[in-house]
Amino acid sequence: MPTLGCPSGTKAVIEKYNLSIQKKFGQNFLIDDSVLSKTVEAAGVTKNDTVLEIGPGIGTMTQYIAESAGKVIAVEIDRMLIPILADTLSDYNNVKVINDDILKVDIEKIVQEENNGKPVKVVANLPYYITTPILMRLLESELPIESITVMVQKEVADRMAEKPGSKDYGALSLAIQYYTEPTLVQIVPPGCFIPQPGVDSAVIHLQCHKEPPVNTADSKFMFSIIRAAFAQRRKTLSNGVANGNLGLSRDQVVSALEKLSLNPSIRGEKLSLQEFADLSDLLYKELNK
Ligand code: SAM
Repeated sequence: MPTLGCPSGTKAVIEKYNLSIQKKFGQNFLIDDSVLSKTVEAAGVTKNDTVLEIGPGIGTMTQYIAESAGKVIAVEIDRMLIPILADTLSDYNNVKVINDDILKVDIEKIVQEENNGKPVKVVANLPYYITTPILMRLLESELPIESITVMVQKEVADRMAEKPGSKDYGALSLAIQYYTEPTLVQIVPPGCFIPQPGVDSAVIHLQCHKEPPVNTADSKFMFSIIRAAFAQRRKTLSNGVANGNLGLSRDQVVSALEKLSLNPSIRGEKLSLQEFADLSDLLYKELNK
């Protein structure tokens, strides 16, 4: 039975280990049983699943996942938490803790070794200071991942579903929509954590597409165009892409935009995913002719 999904269980661990909570690692521990249960339920975790958890902290979410999953692989950067995790997870024989940085560790190798390369489910209360780099890494590296169910800042969850034209539409919205089908699971107020974050949070479930919703010759190239287009938001798309070290001139980008009947001074935030796919295919041909 999970022991940490409540204020008293978490406070007892903090006192026992005289734990100093590391703000620099985005440590906000969950203390709400219903939020934890609902997150694992939304992830659809069963005993047939191997789950990759990012940032187990003191093991709160890990306990809930371990109850439902076949196996949990939990990657935690803070080495001070490793002996605590050995204690709080001692009742579970299906958890492996890895002390590493999720942005540096070879996730593909872990999935190969721990799950024979078969797709895993990612479940996490993410560290908010690196939410976007983590999600972009998980999605863009096209790892064997079935779904991603994560706690993020509410504002980031909102950004994921943005459509062209909105000020918050950007590379993250496009990556989420290209690779997954996002669903909002629940809004979570600051009182569900110790210490309390300064913002509302949200749990989102991202079901990874088997086939992407648009076709493109090279998705990695498309995302390098997208990143360049949004790198300097005040610049036009053609200037942004020309400055993106992709070997493309402004004229080449303008001519591709014209072929697509798009305004040559358009900004990235106006283009849909389909238009980015069409544009990147034209530019890809241009570079490879
Ligand atoms: N899962 C716990 C919970 O729900 O109570 C803790 C979540 S806390 C918001 C984020 C966790 O991610 C912390 O334990 C933090 O140390 C860890 N973390 C931060 N940066 C990390 C990184 N680059 N790689 C792996 N873990 C990281």
